Amino acid sequence: MLYGHVDWDEPADKMEEACGVFGIFAPGRDVARLSYYGLYSLQHRGQESAGIAVTDGREIKLHKEMGLVSEVFSEDILQGLKGIGAIGHVRYSTTGASLAVNAQPLVCQYLQGSLAIAHNGNLINADELREKLAANGSVFQSTIDSEIIVNLIARYGQGTIEDALMKCMIDLKGTYSLVVMTEDKVIGVRDPYGNRPLCIGKLGEDYLIASESCALDPLGAEFVRDVNPGEIVTLDKNGLCSKQFVLPVEKAVCIFEYVYFARPDSNIDGINVMQVRRAMGRELAKEHPVEADLVVPVPDSGIAGALGYAEQLGLVFDMGLMKNRYIGRTFIKPEQSERDLAVRMKLNPVTNLVKDKRLVLLDDSVVRGTTSKKIVEMLKYKGAKEVHLRITSPPVKGPCYYGIDTSERSQLIAAQKTLDEVREYIGADSLKYLSIEGLYRAVDRKTGFCTACFDGQYPIEVSARAGLGKHVLEIPRNVRRESGT
Ligand code: AMP
Repeated sequence: MLYGHVDWDEPADKMEEACGVFGIFAPGRDVARLSYYGLYSLQHRGQESAGIAVTDGREIKLHKEMGLVSEVFSEDILQGLKGIGAIGHVRYSTTGASLAVNAQPLVCQYLQGSLAIAHNGNLINADELREKLAANGSVFQSTIDSEIIVNLIARYGQGTIEDALMKCMIDLKGTYSLVVMTEDKVIGVRDPYGNRPLCIGKLGEDYLIASESCALDPLGAEFVRDVNPGEIVTLDKNGLCSKQFVLPVEKAVCIFEYVYFARPDSNIDGINVMQVRRAMGRELAKEHPVEADLVVPVPDSGIAGALGYAEQLGLVFDMGLMKNRYIGRTFIKPEQSERDLAVRMKLNPVTNLVKDKRLVLLDDSVVRGTTSKKIVEMLKYKGAKEVHLRITSPPVKGPCYYGIDTSERSQLIAAQKTLDEVREYIGADSLKYLSIEGLYRAVDRKTGFCTACFDGQYPIEVSARAGLGKHVLEIPRNVRRESGT
């Protein structure tokens, strides 16, 4: 069920959070350190702040700060976070909300004790829920969606935490992969659309949950499965327990996770990200071949696609652009002026490879056009004869309201200019994008994805002012225990 084409002329009132979450319940292990390494592997999902909350069975301790995982946690801090369970979060937000108070996890007291929560995604009805909760006496200290969820849990908190979360799921509209922790359990929740990824891993007899499977391997954990859309999984002393909503909604996994956001070594919902990106390159080559001497990827996001493009057409692939891997978060800032400098600092052409060559420059996406424009400029300056820009996704024409920072519509170049105007602005000799059909061929599935930023087909209503408890969802009580008692 789609909510149809959204009028993209509506002002985009957004505050997205593209984040990574992690959770583990493992008495006897160093859960804080495991979370630290887990978050380290999820650092690509957010570089603004990081935090870990740990329960020792009686109380929850928290450490969070602005900065990268390696900057936020020292040996001393990790030593001070001993416990049986932990949840963690890395956060990247758009403008305005880059404040320490918005760092996660969020820890609070409610009727039944302590509660910690961390969220990846974006609630569409956050304002409405906040207003209603505030009218009923709730006090808010931050602008993050997690605080709304915490307040809802508190409101529904008479029964078990899982029951409270199920009731919350009726009120929450939007996307969320959550990790929640009480004194004695860690819980993972994936929204009914499965929009943001979340998976389960196993380390010996202990379970963990993470935004992406790439966080499991370094810990020596094995991948168990993805959390299903609408599923609540509980990790506690009894192992893993699952409760499943049956919901009248179609799955809408964010396709941009495969295009750009996720790490290539992750598998999301049974699809390997690297393989899909390569297939996107092959499909793009079939749709838009060009005679060229060399295929050059924009590292790292374009590498897999460039390999696919080159192998499909029998062209030479080479790393004609070098990436400075030591650029810290100073250069990962939302402001336009810093983005310009960031591109030049981050990427530099290898003159000997590109001089006098007809190049295919391959990247995963064009958002504002800043990156491609600067790179084409640099390549031409270094003597490239022709630069044919090939993009392994369709033009980004609409903002994401569900958790990816794709900018407001006014900043999206493909929303403001025609294809040829974009090509001219970027300075490329030709510019071609992969079609939506090509994207679906690459993921090798016909449905089940959110492609709203490309085609305006928003699967979750974005503008309605929804009311608390107004959505009618079927809540079954089928509880499945996968191990333990
Ligand atoms: P732009 O320079 O605004 O056109 O952004 C496109 C470049 O940024 C491409 O190289 C993408 O790999 C990368 N990119 C795409 N989406 C995002 C995002 N949500 N956040 C940060 N970078 C992105």
